[in-house]
Amino acid sequence: MNRLLVATRNRGKLLEIQAVLDGLVTELLCVDDLPGLPETIEDGATFVDNALKKAREACLASGMPTLADDSGLVVDGLDGRPGVVSARYAGPAADDAANNRKLLEELALLPSASRRAAFVCVMAFVHPDGAEQVFQGLVAGRILDGLRGEGGFGYDPLFLVDGFQQTMAELALEEKNHISHRGQALSAFRAYLQQRELK
Ligand code: IMP
Repeated sequence: MNRLLVATRNRGKLLEIQAVLDGLVTELLCVDDLPGLPETIEDGATFVDNALKKAREACLASGMPTLADDSGLVVDGLDGRPGVVSARYAGPAADDAANNRKLLEELALLPSASRRAAFVCVMAFVHPDGAEQVFQGLVAGRILDGLRGEGGFGYDPLFLVDGFQQTMAELALEEKNHISHRGQALSAFRAYLQQRELK
C-alpha cells in the first residue's frame, strides 16, 4: 500500500504503528498532515462504533485508506466501565490522575473479584473502494489498590498484567507494545494488509 491515513493526533501512536507497518506502507499520514479534516465526535456505545465512525469520516473527507483506533479499560465489577469513556472517566477535563483516583474509589467498596479487568483496543480500516475491516486486541489483568510504576500513561500504573509481576507502567515500552491490546490489534491489521497486497 502506498499511503495510509491514521486518524489520530497522537504522535506516539503514529510511531508505534509506523514501526509495525514498516515495509508494508510507503507513507503514513496523520490528521495533522491534512488540515481541514472534520473532528469526529466519539459518541458511540462501543469501541467498534467509535473506531469505525472515525475511520469512515476521515476516509470520506480525505479519499485515502484510513486506520482509526479506539481503546480503553473494561473492569468486571463496574459492568465494563470506564469503557468508551476511559479518557474522561472523572469528567470532561479529567487527567490520568483524576481517572485513576475515581477508579480506586469505586473499587474500594467492592469484593476483590471485581478487580478483574482488560485493556481493549479496536482498530478499524476503511478503504475508499468500500472495504471495511475491524481488528481487536485485549490484554487481561487486575486493578491494584495503588499506583505502581512510572512508565506508560492512563491506567497503566494500576493494571497488573496477567502472567507478569509488573504493572503496565513497570514494563519496558518495547515489552508493553509487544503484549498490549494495541500491539495485538496492529499485528492483526498487518496480517490483513499483507493478504490484501497479495490479491
Ligand atoms: P485511546 O482511545 O487510545 O485514546 O484511549 C482512551 C483512554 O483509554 C486513554 O485516555 C486511557 O485512559 C485509556 N487507555 C487506552 N490504552 C491505554 C493503555 O495502553 N494504558 C493505559 N490506559 C489506556
